[in-house]
Amino acid sequence: MAELTGPEVDHRAGRPGTEPGAAEQGVGAEHVAEPARERGVPADAAFVLRCPRCGRDGTGTSGCPHCRAEGVAVNLEPPLADLTAHDLAAFPGGPWGWRETVPIPGGAAVVTLGEGNTPNVWLPPRPDGRGVWLKNEAANPTLTHKDRYMAAAMATARAQGFETVIAASSGNAGASAAAYAARAGLRCVVVTKSSLPPAIHAQILAAGAVVVGFDDSVARNNTMRQAVEQLGWFPLTNFVEPGAGGHPYAIEGLKSIAYELARDFGDELGAVVVPTSRADLLSGVSRGFKEIVAAGLLRACPRLIAAEPSVAPAFSTALARPGLRDQETTQIPYVGSAAFSIGSDVANWQGLQALRDSGGEAVAVDEATFLDEYRRCAAEDGIFIEASSAVAVSVARGVAGPGTVVALGTSSGLKDLDLALRGAPDLPVIEENLDELQRVVADAAKRA
Ligand SMILES: [Zn+2]
Repeated sequence: MAELTGPEVDHRAGRPGTEPGAAEQGVGAEHVAEPARERGVPADAAFVLRCPRCGRDGTGTSGCPHCRAEGVAVNLEPPLADLTAHDLAAFPGGPWGWRETVPIPGGAAVVTLGEGNTPNVWLPPRPDGRGVWLKNEAANPTLTHKDRYMAAAMATARAQGFETVIAASSGNAGASAAAYAARAGLRCVVVTKSSLPPAIHAQILAAGAVVVGFDDSVARNNTMRQAVEQLGWFPLTNFVEPGAGGHPYAIEGLKSIAYELARDFGDELGAVVVPTSRADLLSGVSRGFKEIVAAGLLRACPRLIAAEPSVAPAFSTALARPGLRDQETTQIPYVGSAAFSIGSDVANWQGLQALRDSGGEAVAVDEATFLDEYRRCAAEDGIFIEASSAVAVSVARGVAGPGTVVALGTSSGLKDLDLALRGAPDLPVIEENLDELQRVVADAAKRA
């Protein structure tokens, strides 16, 4: 692996009002002819990675250019970490629990808000589905698994000397990016959809980030690409078409989910169900289990199952095709749903590889089914998860076969208040009157 080098930056350097570059170039504020390019190491020259499909070495965050020319979206990857001689029972949890598994320079400071070690919550069986464990990633600092990813991403950006980071996100990643950038002292720009849920909008603004909405995702990604290429901003997420996947180093932070599951459930693990969009979580979890199995800490990788909304089921569509060539070039129209965090227009290669290598599958769920699960998880089990996570729980309840089944809960139901309050009555306001209270309770019982 290439050793990363880069200056430690002044954590305040990227704040608005200290635009990098201008002072060095002697350019007055009244006439700035060229956009100021940041001093960070250019994203495409910072490190050497390898394409898992064609085996070529590469750099950067745009995936493998050779495979893309064949119409196949493949992310580049660093080598797997060697976990030999590690004590799984003693794994402290989180992306920095085994620090060497995230490839930032040894001397670089980590960025953390206490992410990881999320609880496993038992969801009892029902007449129409088995009992499953929910690994509740909503217990992370910004209520999502993305915090593991952004901790690793922000440490990388800072170690490489970047001062501004940019994320394309429909929600959770943007809120996480904003918080971790604030912690790291980096300026953060989030480019999102015009339909951004208000709760996430509030999270991003509270962290002091700049957020911009787009009606068109291609325009959004093109704008991000220009910011990365022309302004030298650090890309926290994917911005190429077809979508190859997120920042390769940030994905390494997600491996800690697999380490924690292996530590907590051991060889009882039968299947892990993963809400899937561009498969960063799926590939990160897969890589973590591969490291664990290679070190002899687990007998085998559990089956990994991609859970998708039925309106944008790229991986289910791909795996229904007969040949690998057809599967790996799968692209479908993206259609949004209440599970706004997941669904994809492309079945990228590393996601397919994770499913194939573990003997897994992809399962699509229609909206009525996963919204029923979303309501029942909250009202019957007490766990208020986002609709995308309910897609995974719904799939997990139907998994056949031996072993423990775990669904990954990727975020909280609080992220989408419009959905949570859809169809709800206005808040009843009453005077001191027990009869009135009983009437309100009876009305609620009729609606249930
Ligand atoms: Zn390739």
